[in-house]
Amino acid sequence: MLQVKNISFSYHKEKVLEHIDFNIFRGDILAIAGESGSGKSTLLKLLYGEFDLDSGQIFWDKQEVLGPKYNLITGPDYMKYVAQEFDLMPFTTVENNIGKFLSNFYPEKKQHRIEELIEIVELEDVAKHKVKYLSGGQKQRVALARALAKEPEILLLDEPFSHIDNLKKQSLRRSLFKYLKEQKITCLVATHDKDDIISYADNILFLHHGKSIAYNTPEQLYNTPKYNLIASFFDEFNEFKYSEISNLKKYGVIIVYPHELKLVDSSTIKATVKQSYFRGDHFLIQTAFNDRNIYFKNEHKLDNGQQIFLEISKEIMDNRMS
Ligand code: ADP
Ligand code: MG
Repeated sequence: MLQVKNISFSYHKEKVLEHIDFNIFRGDILAIAGESGSGKSTLLKLLYGEFDLDSGQIFWDKQEVLGPKYNLITGPDYMKYVAQEFDLMPFTTVENNIGKFLSNFYPEKKQHRIEELIEIVELEDVAKHKVKYLSGGQKQRVALARALAKEPEILLLDEPFSHIDNLKKQSLRRSLFKYLKEQKITCLVATHDKDDIISYADNILFLHHGKSIAYNTPEQLYNTPKYNLIASFFDEFNEFKYSEISNLKKYGVIIVYPHELKLVDSSTIKATVKQSYFRGDHFLIQTAFNDRNIYFKNEHKLDNGQQIFLEISKEIMDNRMS
């Protein structure tokens, strides 16, 4: 188990991470989400022992992860870290980069392992090419394969798919996370893209200005978003005051995703269509309601200026208002 015990850290005066506290079971995948500057990369670096903590402790089972003050070599050997900037050998082939840390004692075994990794990150076509000539996305995949080469117990990934084009992203995510689960490799992955992790992470830790604001499963966080920040990670969203959608007198606001609003013949939410945006399998309709924009999904385009009525299902209301 990875135990992060109430850690705090600052580069200078200002606290960058404050009282971060969580555990991860072996083989679990934890996503670290949050806006740019919220401390995601710093958290990964601390887990890797790159800096000394101001306070708190980090343990992998019984071993403590220590910073440079107590440890000359950064990064315990059971851990691998793929940074946002990957550091590869440009004048060497993809295969040799991936095999860099593998033993030469059994050359056949080594070659077999390299081929297996190349398949996972889908780089068969460029295996013999020098890294220098690869695209950013291909380099990122070489860095991933190299980190996996010696089967770490813990893998730390910082925005691992950011340079990879959409065409390749989907299948790469599937094959990478499937491999990690099969090998029971514990993984922490920092990202600001929900598609990177929504289907794969066991839990998501949300950081906001260096503090943890939520830790739960993707489903739980999606279905009951406590904050706008969490809802916005998943999708566009609307906010309604209790008084706009119910007879409740007390003050409160609920978050409603665009697909949770339905076009009906009459309701208390009377809005005016402003614009229809084509989104492939649906249109996102922008409407004006009480001086603000409300968005919903609809199968068809609607006429601008048209008056419409929207409804939120009772189930959603009960769930979000409780
Ligand atoms: P994220 O990965 O979520 O974008 P970072 O961990 O990179 O966030 O940064 C968190 C905060 O720490 C930011 O305010 C950033 O400017 C600051 N920061 C990051 N790296 C350094 C550094 N090496 N020295 C000083 N401040 C830093
Ligand atoms: Mg970062």
